[in-house]
Amino acid sequence: MITNKTLKLSLKSLREFAKKRLPDETVIELDERDECPLDIVRHMCSPDKLGIQLLFIPEEYGGMGGNTFDVYCVCEEMARIDLGVATSVLASFLGSDPITVGATPEQKKIWLSRIAEEGLLFAYGATEPEAGSELGALRTTAERVIQDGKIVAYKIRGNKQWISNGGIAGAYTILANTPAGPSWFIVDQGAKGFTHDEPEDKHGIRLSNTAALALDNVYVGAERLVGAVEGQGLNQAQAVFGYTRLMVAAFGLGAGWSALDRAIPYSTKRIQAGAPLSEKQGYTHKLIVPNVARLEAARAHIEETAERIDAGTEGSLNTEGAIAKYMATEAGNAAADASIQALGGYGYTHEYMVEKIKRDVRITTIYEGTSEIMEMTIGRDRWQIHLKTRGQHYHDQAKKFEELHSKHPNLGADNAALALHALAEVMEKARVARLTRFQHILLRLGELIAYAESAGSLARRASLAAENKLNEKANRRFDPAALAAISRIFSRDAALKVAEDGVRWVAGAGGVNNGDLADFEARLALPAIHRSQAGLIADMDFVADVLYSRAAKREAAA
Ligand SMILES: Cc1cc2nc3c(=O)[nH]c(=O)nc-3n(C[C@H](O)[C@H](O)[C@H](O)COP(=O)(O)OP(=O)(O)OC[C@H]3O[C@@H](n4cnc5c(N)ncnc54)[C@H](O)[C@@H]3O)c2cc1C
Repeated sequence: MITNKTLKLSLKSLREFAKKRLPDETVIELDERDECPLDIVRHMCSPDKLGIQLLFIPEEYGGMGGNTFDVYCVCEEMARIDLGVATSVLASFLGSDPITVGATPEQKKIWLSRIAEEGLLFAYGATEPEAGSELGALRTTAERVIQDGKIVAYKIRGNKQWISNGGIAGAYTILANTPAGPSWFIVDQGAKGFTHDEPEDKHGIRLSNTAALALDNVYVGAERLVGAVEGQGLNQAQAVFGYTRLMVAAFGLGAGWSALDRAIPYSTKRIQAGAPLSEKQGYTHKLIVPNVARLEAARAHIEETAERIDAGTEGSLNTEGAIAKYMATEAGNAAADASIQALGGYGYTHEYMVEKIKRDVRITTIYEGTSEIMEMTIGRDRWQIHLKTRGQHYHDQAKKFEELHSKHPNLGADNAALALHALAEVMEKARVARLTRFQHILLRLGELIAYAESAGSLARRASLAAENKLNEKANRRFDPAALAAISRIFSRDAALKVAEDGVRWVAGAGGVNNGDLADFEARLALPAIHRSQAGLIADMDFVADVLYSRAAKREAAA
C-alpha cells in the first residue's frame, strides 16, 4: 500500500530527477541522435536510485505494491517528462505482467524479486511481423522437448516485431504457440539463438529502444513456461488489458498536458495585434480550452476506472480501459497538434518541444491496441449490453445523471443524460435496421459510447469535487467551479456529437427512410441538445480565465 504522502514524494523525486538529468536540451539532443538513454532508464529502475519499478511490484516480492491509481499517477508524470523513457519503464512492467498475472508462486518469487532487487529490465514480446492487432495469428512456435515421457524444455522459433526494450532488456516474456495454444515463456537476454535487430528509426519516442527479435531454436527449460500450463497466454494477456490500457491512457493524458503547459505560458508572452495571444478568444477557445475539456474528460474516466479496478469487485474492466485509452490518447494527440499551432512557426521547430511531443504521443493511439481496435472492443462489448437490456442500459444510465442534475444543477449532468439517452436511441435504431453488419457503424458506435460515458464520468467527478469527496490522490489542478465548467463544455460536445453523428451514420447506412427521420430526430431530443449549447461561450471564457489565472482579477474588477 502506498500512502498519498509516499506517492507525492515519488512524483516529486521523479520531477526533480527529470529536471536535473533530462532538461529540454538533453531530450532534444537524444531525440535528434535517436538514442535511448540506457543509464537514465536504469537509474529510474534501480532499487537504490529512483526505483520506479518498485511501485509496480507487489510488497511480498520486495516492491511497494502500488495500486492502479498510483501507477496511473506515475505514468502521467513520466509521460510529461519524455514518452520514450516512459515507454521503456512501462515496457519493463508490461513484460513482467504475464508473470504477475499467470506465473506459479515460485516463478513470481524469482522474477518479480529480481525486478525489485536488481532492477532487471523486461521486454514484452507479443507482436510479430504477421500478427499485430490480431495476436491470435502468431506464428512463433514452442516445440516440446520430451524426456522419459516428461516435458523438460521447449525450443522456440519465430520472430517478434516492434518490441520496446527489445535491444536492452535483461529478460523477455515471449508469446509462442505450444501444442495446447499460445503461452508465455521467459527468455534471458543472450540465450543461444536469441538475437535482436538494430533499433528502429522511428517517427517519435526516439528515446525508447524498439527492436525486432529473432528466435532460432532457443532452448528454454520447462520452468520458463509462465504458469506451468500451456495454452493460457491469450487469457493472461487479456486479463490485464483494462489495467495496461489505462497506463497508456495516462501517457496520452500526460503528453497532451505537457504540450498545453508549453502553449499556455507561451501565449501570455507572444504579442500579436497589440495584445498577448492569451487575450484572443479565437485563439484560446479553439486551440486551448476544448483540448483541456477533452483531456479532463479522459482523466475522469481514467480515475474512475482505476478506482474500480482497485476495488477488485468487477474483474479486469477491459472495456473501461479501452474507453480510457481511446479518449485520452486521441485527446493527447489533438492537444499536442493544437499546441504546435498555438506556437505558430516556433511550434514547428525542435527547440520549442511541442513538435517532439506530438511525434511522441502519436504512438499511444497505436501500441497496446490501436484506436480502431479500441472502437471495436467498446462497440462490441456495449452492443451486447444493449441487446441484453433490450435497449434500456443507456436510458437507465441517463436517469442517474438526471438525478445527479437535480442535486447539482450546474455540472452538465443534464447534458450527459441527453448524450446517453440519444446513444440508447442510436443503438436501438442500429439494432432494428441491423446496421452493425457494417463494420464502420459498429466502430462509430464505439466512438459515441466513449464520448457519452466520458461525459458521465466527468459530471460524476465534478460532483465529487463539489462535495469534497475526490480520491485523496486525485489530480487537483482545477477547483470545483472550474471542473463544473469544464464538465458543462464537454457534456455539450458529447451530446451534440452522439446525436448528430448518430443521425449521420444511421441515415448513411440506410437505417431511416424519409418518413422516419423526423421521428428519429425527435427521439434523439435534438432540439433540447441544441438548446443546451446556450452558455457555451461564457463557460469557455471562464475556463480560459482559470487557465490564465485571470479569474480572481476579473472578480476583483467586478
Ligand atoms: C514504437 C512501438 C513500440 C511497440 N512496443 C511493443 C512491445 O513492447 N511489445 C509488443 O508486443 N508490441 C509492441 N508494439 C506493437 C504494437 O502493439 C502494434 O504495432 C499494434 O498492436 C498494431 O499492430 P500492427 O502494427 O501489426 O498493425 P495492424 O494490426 O496491421 O493494423 C494496421 C491498421 O489497421 C487497423 N486494423 C487492424 N485490424 C483491423 C480490423 N480488424 N478492422 C479494422 N481496422 C483494423 C489498425 O487499427 C491500424 O490502423 C509496438 C509498436 C510500436 C510502433
